[in-house]
Amino acid sequence: MLILPFLWLIPAAIATFLAVILIRAAAFRPEKEAPVLEEDIALDEEKIVADFRDMIRCKTVSDRNEALVDWAEFARFEALLAERFPLVHEKMNKKKLGKTGLLFHLAGRSSAEPTVLMSHYDVVPVEEEGWEKPAFEAILEDGVIWGRGTLDTKATLCGVLESVERALAEGYVPENDLYLSFSGEEEIDGDSCRFIVSYLEAQGVTPALVLDEGGAVVDHVVPGVHRPSAMVGIAEKGGLSVEFSIASEGGHASTPPAHTILGQLCRAVTRIEGKPFPCQLSEPTRKMFDTLGRHSTFLYRVIFANLWCFRPILDAMAKKSGGDMNALLRTTVAVTRMEGSRAYNVLPPKATLGMNLRLLGHDTMESACQRLTKLADNDKMSLRVVSGMNPSITSSTDCGGWEKVKAAIHNTWSDAIVTPYLMMACSDSRHYCRITDKVYRFSAMYLTKEERATIHGHNERIPVQTLLKTVEFYTRLLRSI
Ligand SMILES: [Zn+2]
Repeated sequence: MLILPFLWLIPAAIATFLAVILIRAAAFRPEKEAPVLEEDIALDEEKIVADFRDMIRCKTVSDRNEALVDWAEFARFEALLAERFPLVHEKMNKKKLGKTGLLFHLAGRSSAEPTVLMSHYDVVPVEEEGWEKPAFEAILEDGVIWGRGTLDTKATLCGVLESVERALAEGYVPENDLYLSFSGEEEIDGDSCRFIVSYLEAQGVTPALVLDEGGAVVDHVVPGVHRPSAMVGIAEKGGLSVEFSIASEGGHASTPPAHTILGQLCRAVTRIEGKPFPCQLSEPTRKMFDTLGRHSTFLYRVIFANLWCFRPILDAMAKKSGGDMNALLRTTVAVTRMEGSRAYNVLPPKATLGMNLRLLGHDTMESACQRLTKLADNDKMSLRVVSGMNPSITSSTDCGGWEKVKAAIHNTWSDAIVTPYLMMACSDSRHYCRITDKVYRFSAMYLTKEERATIHGHNERIPVQTLLKTVEFYTRLLRSI
């Protein structure tokens, strides 16, 4: 009888809760966008297409095994740049750093806020059987150029060089120093970019803007958003490859122990997969939900405006689904390798288990190894780090560099929403995080899902119109730096 008078509190609490989340959702609206700046940007389509096709024809395939690299193709590529971009080579100071690093410097009116435009010119190998057209002939058909490296990432390299060459022909002197930083070893995590950054560091250069490949202008990132999104990476996840190993006496498979060492590794896998890393709403992901969520339909805005209470639901859904959403929210573990006995009837004398982790937020190589060892819970197993790197720092979105990139995107793809995001892949740009927190990862192209699937895959190709937009973007950016 004593409880009854307070029962009305329950519906009142529910009503208050609903009112709060609905009011928050209603107020969760996008900021007003700046008007689109109409600018005259003249492009020499014929020259751009011809230069680009010749770039694609150079087979600059990098390989960790240097003996397999055709260095003549790299030399041919460098010579092609000198031939097609004479003003870049005449008016800018060129330096070769490391095996394939190319650094160009143009002095601006001031050296206080330098800009670095990055790209890489190596490409990954191809399996020609899977291609509909040859991968290094740069065939142009129906307005589309085919070839390895068209998207990743000779298009951005071409965009940078065409725009700078043209600007120089028009007497361009930037407000601030401009550097072009290219490497031919990005795909194999080579040293050239590191050398370039060390050189700049030694010169005391602190960039106010570094722009490298990364996200693109894409559709359907967040449910309920019907405009394209321009995804600008402001951080990268880290990576870690580890190997667990365990040894035994071996022996005949007819009289096995209760659990062979492979069985023990499997137990570890079950335990590790059964306890995913904790959910983290890292700064880039929070900013992405905050930007894109505001453009979503009301139903989704209820969720995005109230992540404080919907986060556990999001977490549970991500854990179950895996994939993209899960990778945004936690450090992921992929069990990728397992090796035991060479014969069916022999107990393995040694067994190994390989995993690849992608580290998020405050997880480090060290803390991740500690967690894996603890979960594996077997002191006969030893853990070895094969390779790895910690997550990058998160770049600022409260500075001139960010605003310049944002404006150039807005004025080039006016229907796109510009948003920060977390990049899953690793790029050379992370080396720059050593000297600045203004590193942005954006591949200046509108790409369909189908086109994105060809990156590192078969039939990589780019529509000429997409390539021209890339040049347009860099032309705008150059005017603002
Ligand atoms: Zn790339």
